[in-house]
Amino acid sequence: MLRALKSFLGLRPTGVSVARIEPEDRAAALRKIIGKCPICQKELDGHGSYQLATVVAEGPVSPGLTRIRELISRGDFSEAGKHREWKADGDIREFRALRCTSGEIALLDIFYRFKIWSEDVVQGVQRLGQSQGADLDSFVGGRWETL
Ligand SMILES: [Zn+2]
Repeated sequence: MLRALKSFLGLRPTGVSVARIEPEDRAAALRKIIGKCPICQKELDGHGSYQLATVVAEGPVSPGLTRIRELISRGDFSEAGKHREWKADGDIREFRALRCTSGEIALLDIFYRFKIWSEDVVQGVQRLGQSQGADLDSFVGGRWETL
């Protein structure tokens, strides 16, 4: 069950056959975790999201996590987006872009716990400035998924 839910979120273990992922199931799971938009404080209808990167969470600090944070702060989204770590029995940290209906973009740091699904939480929200937001928007292009 946990694996199925994480598959909905695009956190797919490699080498395992993946059931068909319905975008609306993934959206429903994400809406539950995110709650209201951290930018406009409203419901997430019409908002877009995109999984930028994932890293296996080996503690509060890890080389992969440090690297992703560096790339994001530099605005190097294409390089950050190459990080797609997965461990079937590990905690996963996901950097997910959220596009508000206002046009503003935030990066969410979501922690997916292996053991208890209900503890998956948004641990950090970084609102991007206008130029960084525009860079990320153009990097994601047509890949935004509507929540
Ligand atoms: Zn919003």
